[in-house]
Amino acid sequence: MDLIQNLIALLGESAVLRSQQDLAGHVTDWRGRYQGQAQCVVFPSTTAQVAAVVQLCHAAQVPVVAQGGNTSLCEGAIPRADLPETVVINLGRMRQVRAVDPANNSMVVDAGCVLQTVQETARSHGRLYPVSLGAEGSCQIGGNIATNAGGTGVLRYGNTRENVLGLEVVLPDGRIWEGLYGLRKNNTGFDIKHLFIGSEGTLGIITGATLKLHPLPTARAMAWLAVESPQAAIDMLARFQSRCSASLSAFEMVNDVQLNIVLNHVADRRAPLSPSYPWHVLVELTDTCDEALLSAALEETLSAAAEEGMLLDAAIATNGKQQADWWEVRHSVSEGNKKAGIGINTDPAVPLSAIPAFITQATAAAHRIVPGAPIIIVAHLGDGNVHFIPQLQFAQWQALSPAEQDQLSHSVKQAVNEVACALAGTFSAEHGIGQVLTDEMALFKHAVELDLMHAIKRAIDPQQRFNPGRLLPPTP
Ligand SMILES: Cc1cc2nc3c(=O)[nH]c(=O)nc-3n(C[C@H](O)[C@H](O)[C@H](O)COP(=O)(O)OP(=O)(O)OC[C@H]3O[C@@H](n4cnc5c(N)ncnc54)[C@H](O)[C@@H]3O)c2cc1C
Repeated sequence: MDLIQNLIALLGESAVLRSQQDLAGHVTDWRGRYQGQAQCVVFPSTTAQVAAVVQLCHAAQVPVVAQGGNTSLCEGAIPRADLPETVVINLGRMRQVRAVDPANNSMVVDAGCVLQTVQETARSHGRLYPVSLGAEGSCQIGGNIATNAGGTGVLRYGNTRENVLGLEVVLPDGRIWEGLYGLRKNNTGFDIKHLFIGSEGTLGIITGATLKLHPLPTARAMAWLAVESPQAAIDMLARFQSRCSASLSAFEMVNDVQLNIVLNHVADRRAPLSPSYPWHVLVELTDTCDEALLSAALEETLSAAAEEGMLLDAAIATNGKQQADWWEVRHSVSEGNKKAGIGINTDPAVPLSAIPAFITQATAAAHRIVPGAPIIIVAHLGDGNVHFIPQLQFAQWQALSPAEQDQLSHSVKQAVNEVACALAGTFSAEHGIGQVLTDEMALFKHAVELDLMHAIKRAIDPQQRFNPGRLLPPTP
């Protein structure tokens, strides 16, 4: 029997998609800009089935791409265009919550659980799973772990890495590593789970995870600030950190270009303050204390800052509906940007003190290549992570050949990333490397670090069949 027949015998006809029409959504990236090729997309329902699929692919010597919600912003989850024999393994049918242990503040889930389902399940047990991002309605926990996703809760709770206690992983040879520990302490040698977190499917397919839960906040206070400059926003962050750092759960900044795109391109979004202010900050405090205490801390911090002339304007959300609406504005940036034009997305982080210099220098560097292009800025400011996005009009982009589009996007990204790295930053803070930043890995990553990564890849996937061409640059 050939591979396809074996896969159908294992999973059933409906779990093996082959027609171009069925494959389309699984071989095209979230922005709809890039397309790969695959011989099929399969949907296993259990860890044993994932292992069996991997063994069949291993025997047939074909590449394998793990796929979650396919919301990657760096073409991580789509197969390569030059490897049509690839089998895409989509985890979407593995979506059981296996167990919740409120006393241990942990839960065990299948990797295909959608992030929002995980958040809601935790909440129904009086707990918080704190990773939150714009794609939470469709991205999966396995994809979050494979990319070490960040989002808006990192300032208080850390990246996905800080919220994973254990993993279950299918290795490239089909063996299953059963590492679903629920422990906070376990000093028994290398902590293997960290190899797989952020490995973007290059070392194994995550099939299950033990997640760390936190007390569910019962009080929330939120403000929307308008400030003069990124430096003023950083000064406000320092002010909040010194007055109420234990409750500070989000500090997100957008510029006027970004805010206006959301207002003009996403239905039912309203600006809390005039969108003509140059820089906007959403600040959120959450805690398990009395809500009046949090509101008082927020108001005191803001009125002291206003008296000292640190703010252009500020609004405090007066109810839960308003808080949710303001988060909707923040979470709509990717949707708005997708509709507004062609954004050349970057994902750098620099030390907080270097953010103003980064924005000035990156703007100059980008404008040398795309003179006058509007610059969209949306930052998880508290983490030093600035999405710096020069924007082109659709017509400008379409006038270019595909090769010219690639070249332009590549050179803008590299110019911006060079500025970030020169300021002791990174070229990928949270989205990962995927297929789009492998050149940057070769250019900016320390040679010893790259050697170690290649050695680990060779040890675990000697035939280089898991997510080929992602994350690592070709070996020199
Ligand atoms: C609107 C929007 C907002 C976003 N906001 C943020 C943000 O704030 N912060 C952030 O960090 N990211 C953000 N992203 C990027 C993206 O959502 C995250 O990277 C997310 O974690 C990807 O999850 P996914 O299930 O969609 O993974 P996919 O896109 O399907 O896959 C991503 C990578 O993980 C691998 N992978 C997927 N599942 C598995 C698995 N089970 N085992 C092994 N490897 C696997 C894939 O091969 C691929 O390399 C955003 C994306 C969108 C569209």
